[in-house]
This record gives sequence, structure tokens and C-alpha cells, in this order.
Amino acid sequence: MKNNDLGKKNICIIGAGISGLTAGALLIKQGYKVTIFEKESLIGGRALSFDASSYTVDQYLKLLSRFQMNVPFSEPDLLTIFNNEMLKGYRLDLGYHAIGGGVMSNLNSVLATLDDHIETLESSVGFIKENGYDFPFLSRADKLKILPNILRLLLASEKTMKRLDDISMTKTIKQYGQGKMKLTLEIFSRSISTLNNLDRISTGEMFRAQRTLLKGSKPVGYPKNGLGEIHQKLAKAITSRGGTIRTGTPVQRILFDGTTATGVMVENKEHRFDKIVSTLLVQNLFTIADEKHFPKEYVKMMKSLQGTGSLCAYYSLKNVDTQLLGKTFHFIERDIGVDGNDAVGMIDFMSAVSDTGLAPPSHHLIQSYIICTPTEARDKKTLDKLKIALDKNLERLIPNFHSQLRWAIYPAVWHLDGVAKTKDNEKPEIQTPAKNLFVIGDCVKAPGIGINCALNSAQMLKELLTRKTS
Ligand SMILES: Cc1cc2nc3c(=O)[nH]c(=O)nc-3n(C[C@H](O)[C@H](O)[C@H](O)COP(=O)(O)OP(=O)(O)OC[C@H]3O[C@@H](n4cnc5c(N)ncnc54)[C@H](O)[C@@H]3O)c2cc1C
Repeated sequence: MKNNDLGKKNICIIGAGISGLTAGALLIKQGYKVTIFEKESLIGGRALSFDASSYTVDQYLKLLSRFQMNVPFSEPDLLTIFNNEMLKGYRLDLGYHAIGGGVMSNLNSVLATLDDHIETLESSVGFIKENGYDFPFLSRADKLKILPNILRLLLASEKTMKRLDDISMTKTIKQYGQGKMKLTLEIFSRSISTLNNLDRISTGEMFRAQRTLLKGSKPVGYPKNGLGEIHQKLAKAITSRGGTIRTGTPVQRILFDGTTATGVMVENKEHRFDKIVSTLLVQNLFTIADEKHFPKEYVKMMKSLQGTGSLCAYYSLKNVDTQLLGKTFHFIERDIGVDGNDAVGMIDFMSAVSDTGLAPPSHHLIQSYIICTPTEARDKKTLDKLKIALDKNLERLIPNFHSQLRWAIYPAVWHLDGVAKTKDNEKPEIQTPAKNLFVIGDCVKAPGIGINCALNSAQMLKELLTRKTS
């Protein structure tokens, strides 16, 4: 320990995904000595973005499998894509990402506290119809008609929201949903939660998640130059202040003294810390923490939590109608036989504009996904149906898109959100029953879904620890 580190609280963060990096950057600013251990050789976690052309097919598939993903389809086959270096110049994520709330998501407010900023592409959302599309999804007349109802729900007090937490979207739609309002509620609640089954979606959670839109933001955003920009900025905020990020270094075990966490075992060596923060999927916490240090009920609850899934698709096209560039579209496939019966998806042309830094000049990268459950994301028959739905909806926007296709890759993910935010799946608190051990990330009780939940949980951890020590 360096002299100027004496007296600093020594904190260990397990995992360099968005939550771990954000927590590290916020805590180091509060005077903590921060060490992050990351098992992968790259930072970013499930929001990883990488230059796929520097991988072999095997390396690419192995990387995906470590994040509970595979590639059930591609055009041409993956070997041809990789052998012919067709991904040269592309930066891909593990699978399609969009950040809810666009520029008004709390990403830039976190970066602002670190004196940094990220340029964000953002879009309103259109709707793909049998013939053509509506953009934006709600016309002025629609808005005038349905906004009073939506506003009433969005502006409801926290007490009302809490009451709505136990009410399913199915019930809410029955009560309020007619015409465009019904379609709005059906689509947005599914796409925000990444769940098709409206019975499982909590009305309170959905309206809380949509409140950012009231701040004037567009519904979806994506960082220019890809998600990797976020990680690089957060990592710089940590290392430039003396923090350490050790990649390729899995934590083997969390050390305990009774019910107090005291350190971690890394490369067969014990390292002592004042506080330990895990960003692992909470269901996997007990792969590195012995269950005997926790109440049995807690272990059972954590292991029972379920995530969400999707089939994504990346399409590289030679030409795209300029009307579509920069726009994002929802679609709903009715009676497709998935859990919830109808499946919602998104096709996104934000990254298809020329200067996003995600594709070579004059190549158009289109990102998309269709929602399914984790079980469906591993079921070949369901995936076949979902692929047809994705292609069919792209075809509606770009008739005969195959004539423009360079390549297409369809990654399936069966652990997209760490824990689905549903009525039947209560996310755990940040403070665990073990002293000095905390859990953060998209699996824990924090506002928002996915990336937003991960960011918010890191901010909540900072507030919790600062409150405790002040
Ligand atoms: C294909 C896909 C699409 C998605 N789309 C969206 C989207 O559109 N919008 C959205 O908001 N969210 C989306 N998500 C979810 C989003 O990526 C996650 O919510 C977010 O990245 C979670 O961050 P995290 O820090 O909580 O967890 P993670 O990113 O999972 O970070 C945990 C880190 O811990 C590391 N780790 C695990 N075990 C160990 C160990 N023993 N020792 C050291 N390190 C360890 C892991 O390697 C990882 O880097 C998507 C996810 C996927 C996979």
C-alpha cells in the first residue's frame, strides 16, 4: 500500500461490467481505494463491444457462450463470414443494445460527475405495419387523444405507483387500453421489460421506467462509436485516479469471517478488503461465496430469480433508403406461440447512418431483436419462428432486403437482463445479509431496466456507503 493510500477504505469490485466500472469510478472519487477484478480479458461485461474481425469463429463463439449466448443462424455461414474477413471495420456488441431514455438516461449524468460526456445517437420510435410504417409511432392527433391518460399514470405519486406494482399490465390494458393507447401499452411495456407475457409485467415498474420520457428525451439511445466508449471513459476515470482494473483475473472465492466478508481469493492468493462488491448475476453469487455464510431463505430466493432472453440480428446492408436512416422501429408479431402469445421486437437504423464509427464507410449496420424467454432462446423451433419474424419485419421496411445483404448474424441470448423485473421475481437489495458484502448490477433493486438499472445500482451503492461512513 502506498503512503497516500493509508486510511483509505479499501474496496474490491468483482466484475468490470457497466455496474462495476460505474461504482469504481464513483467510489474512487469519494476517496475509496478501488481494485476491480474482471475474469474476461475485456471490460464491459454483457455490454461488451468488440472488434469481431480480430477473433476466429471459435473464439467468437466461445466468448458468446461465456455470456450465455450462441448464434443459431447467420447468412452466409459463420465460417465464411470470418474466413472472408467480412466483419473487418465493424464494432459489434455481444447482441443489440439500446439505452432506454436516450440522452436523458442517467448515463451522461453519471459521466458528468466524472467531468466526462458521451455523444449519443437517439431516436423516436416508429411502428412497422403490414404495409409500410408510422414514424413516429404516435401522431399529434394520437398524442392529444391518449396523452391525458398516460400522463395521469406517469405522474402518479409514489404511493399510487407502489399500488400499481402488484397490478399486471394485462389488467391495466383492459382498464385503459383502446386503439392506439392499447397498442402503446402492449408494445412499450414489453420492450422496456424484455418480456412478452403481460401477466408478469408490473404496471408500477413500467410507468416508473417511462418517466424519463417526460423529461423530453427520445425513447432510445445508443453511444456513438458503440458501448465500448462508455467503458473506456469509466475505466479512465478509475485508473487516472490511481484505481486498478485487473482483467483476465477471476475471483475464485469470497473470504468470510463468520458472516462478515473480509476479502477475496485471486490466483490462489488471499487479498483483504474493507468492502466487497459483487456484480455477478446474483443467481451465480454462490459459485464464489459459500452458502453457509447466508440465511437459507436468502440463498433459495437468489437462486430462484430468472432473467430475460432475446433473438438479436445484425444485418449489414449495401443500401438503405435515406428515410430510414437514424430511425428505430417497433413491431409486434401476433399469435406467434411464445410465452405471452405475441412477441415484440425492434429494428434499429440508428447505427446505419454513416458516421457512427460502428461500420466501415458506406456499410449500413442494422441492429434488431425480438423478445423471448430464456427457455425459448434455447429452443430451435421457437428461434426459427423468431428469425422469420425479424426478417419479415425488415422486409416490410426494405422490400427484398436480401438483394442488399452483405451478411447477417443472429445472436441468441438467454441471460439478457440479469433478473427480469416482474411481479413474481423480487430483486434483492444491494446490502446482502453478510456484513461488508454488497451486490449491484441489473439484478438488484434499483430503478430502470438493463443498463439503466446497472448504472442506478452503482449510484445507490455510492450513496449507501457514503451515508454509512459520513
Ligand atoms: C445480447 C444482450 C442485449 C442486451 N440489450 C440491452 C438493451 O438493449 N438495453 C439495456 O439496457 N440492456 C441490455 N442488455 C443488458 C445489459 O447488457 C446489462 O443489463 C448490463 O450490461 C449489466 O451490467 P452489469 O454490470 O450489471 O453486469 P455484467 O455486464 O454481467 O458484468 C458482470 C461482470 O462480472 C464479470 N465476472 C463474472 N464472474 C466473475 C468472477 N468470478 N471474477 C471476476 N469477474 C467476474 C463478468 O465477466 C462481467 O464482466 C443486453 C444484454 C445482452 C447480453
